[in-house]
Amino acid sequence: MRKNIVAGNWKMNKNLQEGIQLAKDVNAILANETPNCDVIICTPFIHLASVTPLVDASKIGVGAEDCADKESGAYTGEVSASMVASTGAKYVILGHSERRAYYHETSATLKDKVNLALANGLTPIFCVGEVLEERESNKQNEIVKSQLAEALFELSAEEFGKLVIAYEPVWAIGTGKTASSAQAQEMHAFIRSVIADKYGKDVANNTSILYGGSCKASNAKELFANPDVDGGLIGGASLKAEDFKGVIDGF
Ligand code: 13P
Repeated sequence: MRKNIVAGNWKMNKNLQEGIQLAKDVNAILANETPNCDVIICTPFIHLASVTPLVDASKIGVGAEDCADKESGAYTGEVSASMVASTGAKYVILGHSERRAYYHETSATLKDKVNLALANGLTPIFCVGEVLEERESNKQNEIVKSQLAEALFELSAEEFGKLVIAYEPVWAIGTGKTASSAQAQEMHAFIRSVIADKYGKDVANNTSILYGGSCKASNAKELFANPDVDGGLIGGASLKAEDFKGVIDGF
């Protein structure tokens, strides 16, 4: 079901005590109002079990930033989708460009992660996006289409309908350089058309497609006003409750 969503991605920030405080702050800042969008906070693994019972689940969903591509067993250091789900978390970011670039995650690995997330009742927030050179050589559509097709297009329409997609142009992440509203809309419309070609118009129209990359209070409203931009995946501006609230107020 297509929804407006603002999701925070804390990345590798906040120790446990700081993370608990931030979750409490986000909860408190939303306590007396009903946001016009779904709100999600995606935290490091170690925070999940502490944070999920702290927030009002009717307003704030909790998610992980990754999960393993294996179900269980001798994979030292990994955290499985079923472990994430057992904390009460409902979401998991998969395919973030930082995972792809620094931890060499491939579409084949991501396909396994998506399948395990879905099998454990988690909603994947699946990230796609081109790097600067690809944008400069006008290859962004080709790149994004292949990222979607390679990792996701073996899913059934019913399975695909459970996903949230996030478009995060890598050149806009943490750089202060946002895609223009027109660039975001153009890519989101393209992503929706790629989904429509594969799964039909209904599935495409029901898919939430979030924008990520230096999205903050000052530009959220303009970005979210685009017909195909259904919200944001927020890094830096999710690390303080007031900043995050400013983005949520973009709806
Ligand atoms: P910034 O909002 O810090 O640019 O990060 C975006 C992002 O990568 C969210 O997943």
